[in-house]
Amino acid sequence: MVGELLKNLGVEASAYQGGNHAVYTPIDGSQIASVTLESPAAVLDKVEIAHKAYLVWRDIPAPRRGELVRLYGEVLRAHKAQLGELISIEAGKITQEGLGEVQEMIDICDFAVGLSRQLYGLTIASERPGHHMRETWHPLGVVGVISAFNFPAAVWAWNTSLALVCGNAVIWKPSEKTPLTALACQALFEVALKQFGDAPDGLSQLLIGDREAGEVLVDDPRVPLISATGSTRMGREVGPRVAARFGRSILELGGNNAMILTPSADLDLAVRGILFSAVGTAGQRCTTLRRLIVHRSVKDEVVARVKAAYAKVRIGDPRKDNLVGPLMDKQAYLFMQDALVKARDEGGVVFGGERQLQDEYPAAYYVAPAIVEMPGQSAVVRHETFAPILYVLTYDDFEQALQLNNDVPQGLSSCIFTTDVREAERFQSASGSDCGIANVNIGTSGAEIGGAFGGEKETGGGRESGSDSWRAYMRRQTNTINYSRELPLAQGIVFD
Ligand code: NAD
Repeated sequence: MVGELLKNLGVEASAYQGGNHAVYTPIDGSQIASVTLESPAAVLDKVEIAHKAYLVWRDIPAPRRGELVRLYGEVLRAHKAQLGELISIEAGKITQEGLGEVQEMIDICDFAVGLSRQLYGLTIASERPGHHMRETWHPLGVVGVISAFNFPAAVWAWNTSLALVCGNAVIWKPSEKTPLTALACQALFEVALKQFGDAPDGLSQLLIGDREAGEVLVDDPRVPLISATGSTRMGREVGPRVAARFGRSILELGGNNAMILTPSADLDLAVRGILFSAVGTAGQRCTTLRRLIVHRSVKDEVVARVKAAYAKVRIGDPRKDNLVGPLMDKQAYLFMQDALVKARDEGGVVFGGERQLQDEYPAAYYVAPAIVEMPGQSAVVRHETFAPILYVLTYDDFEQALQLNNDVPQGLSSCIFTTDVREAERFQSASGSDCGIANVNIGTSGAEIGGAFGGEKETGGGRESGSDSWRAYMRRQTNTINYSRELPLAQGIVFD
């Protein structure tokens, strides 16, 4: 089913046939392609080429660099439906979410094009007469992008569009579970490169490889920035390795996102917010809602309404009229079942979570989303299980709700549903949510590209996408210029 699609997206058959690494679709578990994993030696060659490309690209004026990203956005617009379909096939997202992911790529391209004329520095008042100071931003070098299976295209686009306008070259190691989407993104990028005309060879390269290939990239001192998205386990390995060579990293790791649902909340809105955040992408978003912290007075009603909504959710082939597609693979299913066993052992009452459509798809893993009423924030609740499990916790006092929100190792996304302005403001204050994202009256997932995206604590502390995230892709320089005929020293020091 995928050959025609890849052809239309410009991917050569040799890139996805006859390789040593099988690619499966989570829709029915069948093998759809085989790609060739690249050797560690090939990684070194790619870095060499990328570094040379950077040496040329850094001197191209930033607005001209933006033109390449503008062209890429146009190519993406023309191929949105096909790329979205490929994402559905390879990552199991429903059509709407596959399309949404491509739209996010287009949005960040637009943002980056604007940014290419706004890489502003500062002018700073000097304490010395006849002097002025300024702060300028320069390209950094080769940016290594490592991405996860669940956003097989957008995370790369977030990084690459900014990295390119900032004057860098990029090497992308996608998840070994989703190499086809990466091949398609690269093929489309090459269309934009051709239209652009004179970009240096190897400006943005794809590295199809496993963890070992990722490690070679991570250790290479010619790669000053590694932007790595994935599990906290991965970040624990990558972060110290990059730091050991004084490289920089942007770490976008696991989340354990909560909603505080207060007595004053608009419950219709809240139930819809819960549904999209908790079961969208079959619970496989870093921002998926995993903990519902609900006031005791509304808990029974909310849980009953969420259960009723869950019972109606259509589960099945993500390309058809369904809301919940498959889990990525058997391993994800086993992790989910293991978490449900642990939750029961820790006093939880489980609703849902069973395997679905097993007869129709014996090699695929569809599940009913689970709701688990927990007596407290036990070990399993504090751990990110990458599947649709929503733990329900009850609170009596608002301070207790805030404490529960923050009392997990991760710090990515959070939200509150309330119509009480005091609660809303407190939630977003210094002593409120400790997460990188804190929303009011919308769920934890579905961020726009305009804001800086990322989280605290075990989520890794990285920020990418909007706001001033671009600064991470550049090096800062402080300049002092003397236009006088004297040489006064700072701090009034006399050195005659
Ligand atoms: P994963 O950690 O298994 O793999 C992510 C990527 O890291 C893959 O490309 C993998 O090959 C690579 N990798 C793994 N170990 C490595 C190492 N030692 N050195 C170099 N590269 C290495 O994650 P996954 O299962 O693909 O994705 C799910 C996880 O990603 C979840 O925890 C989810 O929360 C997280 N995630 C976070 C964000 C975010 O922005 N915070 C976004 C998407 C996904």
